[in-house]
Amino acid sequence: MNAVPVAAPTRLVDVTVDGTTVKVAEGTTVLQACRGAGCDDIPTLCYGDTLTPKNACRVCMVEVEGSRTLVPSCSRKVEAGMVVHTDTERVQHSRKMVLEFLGSSTDLSVAPHVADWNEQYAVDVDRYGPDRRTKAQPVKRDNELYVRDYEKCILCYKCVDACGEQWQNTFAIAVAGRGFDSHIAAEYDAELPDSACVYCGNCIAVCPTGALMFTSEHDMRADGSWDESRQTETDTICPYCGVGCQLTLHVQDNSIVKVTSPSDHSVTHGNLCIKGRFGFQHVQNH
Ligand code: SF4
Ligand code: SF4
Repeated sequence: MNAVPVAAPTRLVDVTVDGTTVKVAEGTTVLQACRGAGCDDIPTLCYGDTLTPKNACRVCMVEVEGSRTLVPSCSRKVEAGMVVHTDTERVQHSRKMVLEFLGSSTDLSVAPHVADWNEQYAVDVDRYGPDRRTKAQPVKRDNELYVRDYEKCILCYKCVDACGEQWQNTFAIAVAGRGFDSHIAAEYDAELPDSACVYCGNCIAVCPTGALMFTSEHDMRADGSWDESRQTETDTICPYCGVGCQLTLHVQDNSIVKVTSPSDHSVTHGNLCIKGRFGFQHVQNH
């Protein structure tokens, strides 16, 4: 009889989060352990549940006993007996500083949750004065499907990873420049239609700040008609091919205003192709 290889069982370790001890599987991140312990309010921006943590934004820092520095909870793995504090004065100060740095150079006005965090951590983005350098620049509109507003970009690299080897394998965009001039760019700063972009929109799906946005959403926000309280979300199956990706249609005033896909889907993980993501105009243009 052939031997059936059996994976070694995952060891459980004890981790204490804000005084509550939980058992979590070895290899779990501190962020996951915190959520398992009921602590759901650690802010994150560059973290994405479908991407490898990048440690770029530093808003998820927590204090770990015995560690000289604060640690990024999204990527740090738990260790047996670890004692984590998520809301100490040092942690709060760090989050305030990070949100001030980000908010003083970029426009985070449509980034979900940021306004609440700013209030919670008493963030003052004007602290660095009127002469601070910002990423202010015109919105890039070089195709009909989505706009790129890099004034809102925090350089979290999520779009680069989604377009590259982690999902799409198209490699249309990358980080160009150095230091404060670092920016997300298509090859040689070309416009998207001249790049390798296939308009899957998987970069839009992971962007945490609205720097990448459906043209429909961008234009509705600009004319003041975007109203999420009047929108419904309906899950359906993409009609274009036999793969059958799951779509979530965001509908306002009986029109589809954008399309997403659940990130926890075991096959597509929130990713779509151009047809599923953008091919909805025929539904309402008849
Ligand atoms: S739309 Fe798709 S191919 Fe184009 S930049 Fe975004 S992830 Fe890459
Ligand atoms: S465009 Fe969005 S996803 Fe890409 S680096 Fe900037 S903030 Fe991150």
